[in-house]
Amino acid sequence: MICSRLSEVLPHLISQNQGAFVRGRSVAHNILIFQDLIKNYNRKNSSPRCALKIDLSKAYDTVDWCFLERLLIGYHFPIRFVQWVMVCLRGTSYVLMMNGRLQGGFKGVKGLRQGDPISPLLFVLIMEYLTRLLQLGAHQQQEFRYHPLCKGLKIINLCFADNLVVFCKANCGSVQMLKQVFEEFCNSTGLRANSSKSHVFFGGVSVADRNQLLKLVQLEEGTFPLKYLGVPMRPTKWRMADCDEILKKISIVKEVDKLCMWFLWGNNGTRSKFHLTSWTSVCLSKGFGGLGFGEGSKWNKAMLAKYVWEISNKPDTLWDPINYHKFVWKRTSMPKHRFITWQAVNGRLLTHDHLNRVLGQLESTLCPVCEIDAENHEHLFFGCKFSQKVTRLVHRWLDCIWPLSFSDWSQWIGNMRRDVIAMIVAAAFSATVYYIWFNRNSCYVNHCSSSVECIVDRIKKDISYRCNFFSQRKLTGKELVFVRNISSV
Ligand SMILES: [Zn+2]
Repeated sequence: MICSRLSEVLPHLISQNQGAFVRGRSVAHNILIFQDLIKNYNRKNSSPRCALKIDLSKAYDTVDWCFLERLLIGYHFPIRFVQWVMVCLRGTSYVLMMNGRLQGGFKGVKGLRQGDPISPLLFVLIMEYLTRLLQLGAHQQQEFRYHPLCKGLKIINLCFADNLVVFCKANCGSVQMLKQVFEEFCNSTGLRANSSKSHVFFGGVSVADRNQLLKLVQLEEGTFPLKYLGVPMRPTKWRMADCDEILKKISIVKEVDKLCMWFLWGNNGTRSKFHLTSWTSVCLSKGFGGLGFGEGSKWNKAMLAKYVWEISNKPDTLWDPINYHKFVWKRTSMPKHRFITWQAVNGRLLTHDHLNRVLGQLESTLCPVCEIDAENHEHLFFGCKFSQKVTRLVHRWLDCIWPLSFSDWSQWIGNMRRDVIAMIVAAAFSATVYYIWFNRNSCYVNHCSSSVECIVDRIKKDISYRCNFFSQRKLTGKELVFVRNISSV
């Protein structure tokens, strides 16, 4: 009962940066955010930044009970509730068994019991305390600077259970603040970092500064790829070859995730029914119905597919702003176009090769549009005759081209100019990706393809509509001609 009461209020208490136990968020979100934040760590000219991956192993065993009591009171839990929790904890005793005989016992003095359903809930509250301490420190200490990309959202740390990563700008003031706060946290909670398993990672830091910071944090510098929640992380983008391993790992961490959910909501009754209906409805609305999930043996795989679907589709308040703000065409292109494009460029659309890997033994892995070749991102956007025709017509319309191979896309986006013409080209690019994917889903579900002309027409309409947002007076002569040409669809 204590657990169910506690789990009801947890979502209101816990910050977005904790992956565990926040309704609708999962371990995968933390993985993706982390992956995004360590991008550019290998670039020499990036602004200085660092990440501290802190191992809190044996964390459960060292939690100080008096602190926990004060913490619960501090969160304004009712006194009687706090007493119940403390009675449960203080009732812990251990019995020693040696040579098969009981050799007396002793009472516990600290720590949360492994396997006790309330332990992870209490632990989350303790990590929330760290988050609040860090936020307070950032607010109070003038020298603290956020990690690049974290400023807008004020992220300093990511937690998933006892996995902790802390981020900041790589300068002494910022690192000093993190260190102080973490020491304060350790002193009050009884937790300790396992320094042999904790590492610091730098990006854009000179050798001299690096040595100085290493001396300050007293941790070893880590190397990439580092493992976070079992997934290999590197500053470069995930390669297609990595996806396999990531999917496998995610299926394991997903199990952990699921266990955590069970603690909170139970694995029977309404909750799982809710999962089922939302899965079905999500799939249908996005054009993924008719997969025939639900037969016993395929159920696990289906759940995994749902999970992959979720992380690749779900707009997440913490995750999305980090990715989207880099896109220069934000004003010109439509959000739904950007969203699908972002997934496509990162190889995250659920094309048949991905589905087959997740579900295994699909009846057909052929491209639903041409039904000639196997479907993957490269084929869908470049190899497929239908897509080639669409792209060619859009290029002719704009009188320019974008790279015609999947691996060149992200670099092209990264190096994009910021003038009006480049923005319009980028918007047309993302509209093209969107409508190719849209048509592909229509082929998959309804076995019905639009004509090339019809798709190109919709792309042109969307783009010329968005062009109305440019104030014609601010355009250069060349830009004005370009905008006028494509506006006259
Ligand atoms: Zn095809």
